[in-house]
Amino acid sequence: MATPRLELHPDRLLPPDPEARAIARRLYGLVEKLPIVSPHGHTDPRWYAYDQPFPDPATLFVVPDHYIFRMLYSQGANLADLGVPRLDGEPIEQDPRKIWRRFAEHYYLFRGTPTRAWLDHSFATLFDLDVRLTAETADHYYDRIAERLAQPAYRPRALFERFNIEVIATTESPTDPLDAHKAIRASGWKGRVITAFRPDPVVDPEFENFPVNIARLSDLSGIDATNWDGYLDALRNRRAYFKSFGATSTDHGHPTARTCDLSRAECERLFGLAITGRCVGEEAEMFRGQMLTEMARMSLDDGLVMQIHPGSFRSHNPQLFASNGRDMGADIPTRTDYVHALKPMLDLFGNERDLTIILFTLDETAYSRELAPLAGHYPALRLGPAWWFHDAPHGMRRFRELTTETAGFYNTVGFNDDTRAFCSIPARHDVARRVDCAYLAELVAGRRLDEDEAAEVAVDLAYNLAKTAYRL
Ligand SMILES: [Zn+2]
Repeated sequence: MATPRLELHPDRLLPPDPEARAIARRLYGLVEKLPIVSPHGHTDPRWYAYDQPFPDPATLFVVPDHYIFRMLYSQGANLADLGVPRLDGEPIEQDPRKIWRRFAEHYYLFRGTPTRAWLDHSFATLFDLDVRLTAETADHYYDRIAERLAQPAYRPRALFERFNIEVIATTESPTDPLDAHKAIRASGWKGRVITAFRPDPVVDPEFENFPVNIARLSDLSGIDATNWDGYLDALRNRRAYFKSFGATSTDHGHPTARTCDLSRAECERLFGLAITGRCVGEEAEMFRGQMLTEMARMSLDDGLVMQIHPGSFRSHNPQLFASNGRDMGADIPTRTDYVHALKPMLDLFGNERDLTIILFTLDETAYSRELAPLAGHYPALRLGPAWWFHDAPHGMRRFRELTTETAGFYNTVGFNDDTRAFCSIPARHDVARRVDCAYLAELVAGRRLDEDEAAEVAVDLAYNLAKTAYRL
């Protein structure tokens, strides 16, 4: 049997109806080559700082990507056989070619998933592969990718430029000294890599090692963060430090969207419990809720845009958490309330025109019932793009269908690739651009929007809105 071909169809994700497809092609032509603005993601700043070659195909594509290994795990694969590091130092597969072969044997599991589309896009456009990845082609793939990764054109900075990235944000904890960002600055390289302030380790009393993290916050800020006022000052200090490395945003990954407006005495009491490791359950939830409100207050002062990514039940699998730690593909979405949860914060700051709070969800039932009406009213609120499990063609489509008629396009903020997988960045932005152009083309074909307006919206969704919303 002939080896199956790998081909990216030029009309992929565009409407099947010929009239709408022709409009979509024209709109896509306007946005296809626009620079990438990536205001939220999880790439490693050391890549840009030290510009070392990516070591091998498995380390680039498989080992760090929980989208990939969660699927293999769900089908009975052992993470150690995929080279995923364990906390206890038990042996894991060291041979990247063996890891790659295991991945290739299971590539069929990704049929119909966005991961498959992102990977195929990278394989075809970046590595000029023209056959499908299968067990039979695994070594051909490995050799081609390994050979390319050894070339200067495949180093992180060269890829950054090839991807036409205008700006990319990484995400760091306040307990991070930002050494990689310092090194990027010191190197004189002109790529724009900025940080974003993600304070979960120091605002969530249930985060691993919270009291230790607070001690580190004191050290790094030079401010005693073991009392409530000092703690808030230390956070202000670190926000300013992050701003000096280009940060324009904060990011909050809380289990819920709960916000609180507690009395000072109550804040001090909860903080006292937290720094001694005794703030758990409902009290931890109240503390996190108060801290979202405090972060909004600080954002009003320092201008950092606030992102709230709630509703993930992190590390749902306790055995896997014990053996491998966080971010192992065991984070599961939960039902998420926004209308009641955000009210204490919105009562204080919802009408502020100088504050931007970007809301994300893993609970799609909230789009039309809660999120679009909230963002379609409060000046401080915007809607973040389809996130994580929903960052996929149908998920993006549902986002537009469930929000546009209430919140319009201009209460949304463009696209986030939100990725750790560097090579997937162009693919992810391309998918978002195609899906938005398809949606707009159908509005035009349905005589609901003129094509010149759709053209303007397409460019705004692909480029301008992210820059405006994130103050880039
Ligand atoms: Zn993220």
